[in-house]
Amino acid sequence: MNYKNFPMVSKVVFGRGSYSQLGEILEPKRLNVNAPFIFLVDDVFEKNDWITKRIPLAYEDKIIFISAAEEPKTEQVDSLVEHIILNFKERPSGIIGIGGGTVLDMAKAVAIMLTNPGEAKDYQGWDLVKNPAIYHVGVPTISGTGAEVSRTTVLTGPDKKLGINSDYTPFDQVVLDPELTKDVPKNQWFYTGMDCYIHCIESLTGSYLNVFSQSYGEKALELCKDIFLHDTLSPEESQDKLMMASWHGGMSIAYSQVGVAHAMSYGLGYLLGTKHGIGNCIVFNHLEEFYPEGVALFKEMKAKHNIDLPTGLCKALTDEEFDIMIDVALSLAPLWENALGSNWKTIMTREKLRSLYEKM
Ligand code: NAD
Ligand code: ZN
Repeated sequence: MNYKNFPMVSKVVFGRGSYSQLGEILEPKRLNVNAPFIFLVDDVFEKNDWITKRIPLAYEDKIIFISAAEEPKTEQVDSLVEHIILNFKERPSGIIGIGGGTVLDMAKAVAIMLTNPGEAKDYQGWDLVKNPAIYHVGVPTISGTGAEVSRTTVLTGPDKKLGINSDYTPFDQVVLDPELTKDVPKNQWFYTGMDCYIHCIESLTGSYLNVFSQSYGEKALELCKDIFLHDTLSPEESQDKLMMASWHGGMSIAYSQVGVAHAMSYGLGYLLGTKHGIGNCIVFNHLEEFYPEGVALFKEMKAKHNIDLPTGLCKALTDEEFDIMIDVALSLAPLWENALGSNWKTIMTREKLRSLYEKM
């Protein structure tokens, strides 16, 4: 047995209002006045003074707004890196991502690509990154993905949707300020929150489970139940708890693996551009067979919060399109092995997978 030696975020601050400490956190990390801090910020905040005016800009520091309408692409990472190299006198002192999983992943990828030659697509995979990234900081503004703790940055490239998984990927610093999530629209809150819930179910029922993963996964699941099933929490308590659930859920899968919903959702995402959170919900809703208790509870939460999920996504797909989705999903062997055991190929045949997609 070769146990994973897993890198963690080196520093983390938690608390409502802790975002205001960003300036004092960054200050000692400034290399010189020509080496700026670059803030990649979700463009949903472009007109939101409350978040942007608290960004501690000095010298050559810059804000670059990023759209989260689509998940990050490798070419988008490459063009941002080129822009930064061409427009600043020196390599930045750091990259700070302020946003959801989309922007956090962009920030991680850009920090890596500023010190590594070639294109982002060359590093999609496991442990392909040779040089340490520049200093990078994550400030999540929506909770659930666990992107703030993970050792990956999920990117869609020309021929695959796959993360840059490396020891250099995790943030050097994370600022967990639950107050930043207070204006997340309800449906999005549910979709991204359910990403966390599904991480827990897939981790806790998987064959890769161990006590490390279990201890984080159980805590995250307990928090998710408090948030999504009970009426006793104030909005502030709910925001605080979801931020910590996301963290613990991310820690749980870091030392185990996700499962059927994630494998199938990657297929939907690659072919149809369906985003991670909502894609996971659409898929998980049909997985009673694999996760009976988890799906029953999911349906209860969905009903309680009046969430409608799109249907008929795969209704008009051609055989070729089904094949693309099936290929993408089946290429994720560790996810299937975790979910269904070592003889997963006899359980999840192409026909079986197609019949599941046809329901969606
Ligand atoms: P997101 O970043 O895609 O954002 C979803 C929506 O919420 C966007 O419209 C965004 O503008 C909006 N939003 C974010 N914060 C807001 C706020 N405070 N107020 C109002 N609106 C706000 O959402 P996500 O679900 O956090 O991230 C999904 C992405 O994360 C996908 O690209 C997925 O691949 C990635 N992901 C990465 C990991 C990882 O380990 N690296 C894990 C899971 C998912
Ligand atoms: Zn996920």
